[in-house]
Amino acid sequence: AKRRTIDVDQLADDVRHGKRPGLARAITLVESTRADHRDLAQQLLLKVGSEGAAKSNRVGITGVPGVGKSTFIDGLGMYLLGLGHRVAVLAVDPSSTRTGGSILGDKTRMARLSVERDAFIRPSPTAGTLGGVAKATRETIVLLEAAGYDVVLVETVGVGQSEVTVANMVDVFCFLTLARTGDQLQGIKKGVLELADLVAVNKADGRHELEAKAAARELQGAMRLIHPRDSLWRPPVLTMSGLNGTGLDTFWDTVLKHRGVLTEAGEFAEKRRRQQVDWTWTMVHDQLLRRLAESPGVKSLRAEVESQVRDGSLTPALAAEQILRAFDA
Ligand code: GDP
Repeated sequence: AKRRTIDVDQLADDVRHGKRPGLARAITLVESTRADHRDLAQQLLLKVGSEGAAKSNRVGITGVPGVGKSTFIDGLGMYLLGLGHRVAVLAVDPSSTRTGGSILGDKTRMARLSVERDAFIRPSPTAGTLGGVAKATRETIVLLEAAGYDVVLVETVGVGQSEVTVANMVDVFCFLTLARTGDQLQGIKKGVLELADLVAVNKADGRHELEAKAAARELQGAMRLIHPRDSLWRPPVLTMSGLNGTGLDTFWDTVLKHRGVLTEAGEFAEKRRRQQVDWTWTMVHDQLLRRLAESPGVKSLRAEVESQVRDGSLTPALAAEQILRAFDA
């Protein structure tokens, strides 16, 4: 294949000037898993700088398929454009790495936003592990902020670790749900409520409006049990309709209020710094595990050690020691 040389300076310039084709190419570069691309991508990230980061809002959005995420993001995005923001939408879709197709972040799902000049929609990377997708997404956020997008919406679905992954890369993590009361509440994973800074009962319109409000009150009670000691921020439960646009303003006001409260306490910038350090270690862990799996010493001993553990002639603890010794060697 013909390899085009990549001019990192030019690319950084294009990104900083918000040129779409350059930005798209820059994102493709950070998504690439090729070794030479990885180096260039890191150079690029250093070159574009982090000036845009200070005023950006990174918002995570999760909810089961059908809850109305794309309708909501389309509506919220249009509302934010109206306020003068520039809006980017990213997706973290772990299933796309298996199927090669991305449902989340598909432009056709956000019909109005996708044709707007000040909006940028990028589907989930379709190659690599969740760790790989997360890395690309984090680095894409840096590029988007450098390009002047001051609102970055990161969408995901509640599959496995993807919610934790997204919660760890955004300022505020929002959980969209539908009107559920009593026993149905049990169907909501406690894990996601622990991660959520904001819960919104969506599709609160038409004949479902009252039902949604009742469900929100009940959910608020459940949230109090899950976040009993959170003195800084009590995650509120809102109602809204992404379809007819009611509650989008309150949703956004709440995002800003959350930012204000954290900033006031010195926690906003600290949260981002902490995320950077945590992320560093996540990558160290991931890469160590990969090297371990690829280590010739470990590979040659693996089958034998596993079979000894299976038949009980070796304890798991001793087996672990042998594997690590083979890795060190
Ligand atoms: P996603 O899978 O979470 O992205 O959900 P979609 O945005 O694709 O919405 C799923 C279905 O719910 C579609 O038929 C939408 O028209 C409908 N829908 C989305 N938001 C609302 C809403 O606020 N109210 C009502 N009544 N329907 C909605």
